[in-house]
Order: sequence, then structure tokens, then C-alpha cells
Amino acid sequence: MKITDIRFGLLRVPLKTPFKTALRTVEAVEDIVVTVHTDTGHVGYGEAPATAVITGDTHGSIVEAIGRYIAPRLVGEDIANLNRITQLIQGALERNTSAKAAVEIAVYDLFGQLYGAPLYRLLGGGDPVITTDITISVDYIDKMVADSISAVDRGFESLKIKVGKDMGVDVERVKAIYAAVEGRALLRLDANQGWTAKQAVHAIGTLEDAGVRLELVEQPVKAHDLEGMKYVTERVNTPIMADESVFGPREVIDLIRMRAADIINIKLMKTGGLSNAIRIADISALYGVECMIGCMLETSISVAAAVHLAVAKSNVITKVDLDGPSLCAFNPVDGGVQFNESEISVTDAPGLGIREIRGLEPYRA
Ligand code: MG
Repeated sequence: MKITDIRFGLLRVPLKTPFKTALRTVEAVEDIVVTVHTDTGHVGYGEAPATAVITGDTHGSIVEAIGRYIAPRLVGEDIANLNRITQLIQGALERNTSAKAAVEIAVYDLFGQLYGAPLYRLLGGGDPVITTDITISVDYIDKMVADSISAVDRGFESLKIKVGKDMGVDVERVKAIYAAVEGRALLRLDANQGWTAKQAVHAIGTLEDAGVRLELVEQPVKAHDLEGMKYVTERVNTPIMADESVFGPREVIDLIRMRAADIINIKLMKTGGLSNAIRIADISALYGVECMIGCMLETSISVAAAVHLAVAKSNVITKVDLDGPSLCAFNPVDGGVQFNESEISVTDAPGLGIREIRGLEPYRA
């Protein structure tokens, strides 16, 4: 099974409700879909969103990185040589992690198809059912409380609350949501870099003193401010998770050695795909550090790959934040990973099991 061609498409899916964080507001998923074609007729699927404020990747940069730097190295390569191909992808150019992720996901999909097995089995097996949280966008307090209650009524047992806009209001938001869902759902806060280190210690301390128990607080400070993250981690009881601060395995090693955070959020769009995500999971397991698996605004193509990884590495990936597909107004993918609100399950279909993508448009620069 040799790679013959790599092509692009554009997938647009409206969101059920606008996605609002401290960094941005988004109304629809609009992602580049990558298809890797082979001489046997098998097609592998990958996907990447533009997340300029986090990874720096845009649709244009993703297509350029793949079309001009990655694809020329891969044509003619045999899918059986997976490690060689992932090295070619990772070494094609610096950064551009979303572009690399999209291609790696498609190649791993083909690797599964080559051996007729769902990807998670080739990654080591596991129980093919996982449970995700759902994001509650940052908004007026009443709206956030209503969204939280609605999510709990739909069966979500973990809520990821977006905060980081205004510290005083953030504390009130969280107290109100906690009071509304107490005992029915765990709360994870994501500040998306919205606080300073001192503000974070104050906000989390205030919540702790008020009896609000949080499962974790994610990325309280700026991405580059590892010292600030360490400052917060040392001063609060609530576990602190690093997201935008860590992309690849080297940064994870630095973060763990610094003891700057308690938990690491793995996202394929930050790691450059599965090969480095696997490394991060294994490094974290070695140090006894738990991981979350997260996603950007992605549909069930690239999120499917994250699900397979989470199943295979469930020893260390103990928290799942793969709500991209459930935020979409509809599922454009007919595939092997089933997204049913909080429950995600994987079928026995080979690779990622993607049969059809509805509404895929040609990509035009
Ligand atoms: Mg985050």
C-alpha cells in the first residue's frame, strides 16, 4: 500500500451554539480535510482546523505546508513503514503542527486499514468506550448556568467551564454553576490564559474557600509563562493543567521537571499528530502525571484519531475533552467512532473506519 497522492477539501459545519473563550468566538467549524490516496485504492482521512491564536496555523498555511513540504516526501512511501513516514512528516518543516497532525492522522488511518484492525488495537488495545465532558462557553452568568443544567440533563457528568474574561465575574460564574449542578457533575475550569499568576491564585483560592470543589483549572496564565504556571500550581490545592503552554514531548519533559503543572492536556493539533501524542502519554505515565485528551474545533475525523489514542492509553489519559463533534449542529462523518453526547464508542472498522464525509467542498485558496 503505497502513497500516490494527497488532496484537500474544506468541511464547514455550523455549531449548535457559538463557542466563546477568553481568546475568541467561533460560529462554525471550518476545517481542512486531507485525504491520502494509495495504489491499492485505500484512502486515509485527516483533518485540521485553523487555530491561529493557539498554534499559528491557518487554512492557507496548512495547505501550503502539506502541499509543498510534506506531500512531496511521502509520495511513493509504503504505509507499512509507519515510523519512517511519521519521521518524514515531522522533519519536513518546523512547527506547523496542525498540518502535520492532519497528515499523520490519515496515515495512521491507512495503517489500520492495511492490517484490517481499528487503530486503537494497533496502539495497544483497550476498552473502546470513553466518556467526554462538554464545553460551556463563557457568557452571561444566567446563560452559563442554563447551558450547564442543560448539559447535565443530557447526561454529561463533567463540564468544562470557559472563564478568564474578568476575574471577579469568573468567580461568580463558577459559584453559580457549582450551586446549580453540585453533586451531578464535576467542574473543570479553562481560563485560556486569561489571568495573571496572582489573579489565578486569588480566584482559585476564593473558590476553594467558598467550598467550590473543582476537578482542575486549565491554563490559568499565558502560554509562555511557565514560571507563572508553577507559581499557581505551588499555591493552590486544585490541580492545574497545562494546555497552550505545552505542544510537544520536549516541552512536556520541561514542564514535568519544573513541576509547573499537575496535568497535561494533549491535543493532536499541538503535538503534530499521533506519534508525538503517544510519546507524551508514555513520558507522562513514566512520571505518574495524568493527561487529558482534548481537541480544537474539530469534527469526528480528527477527533476519531484522538479517541483511538485515548482508548489505547487510558492508563494515563484519564480525562477526555473531545466535545468537538457534540458541539457541531450535525455529524458530517459516517464512520467508526460513534459520538452520542457524552458517550463515545469505537466499532471494529479498520483504521478510523471513515466511510463517507458529507458536504466536503473543494478547497480553494
Ligand atoms: Mg484549553
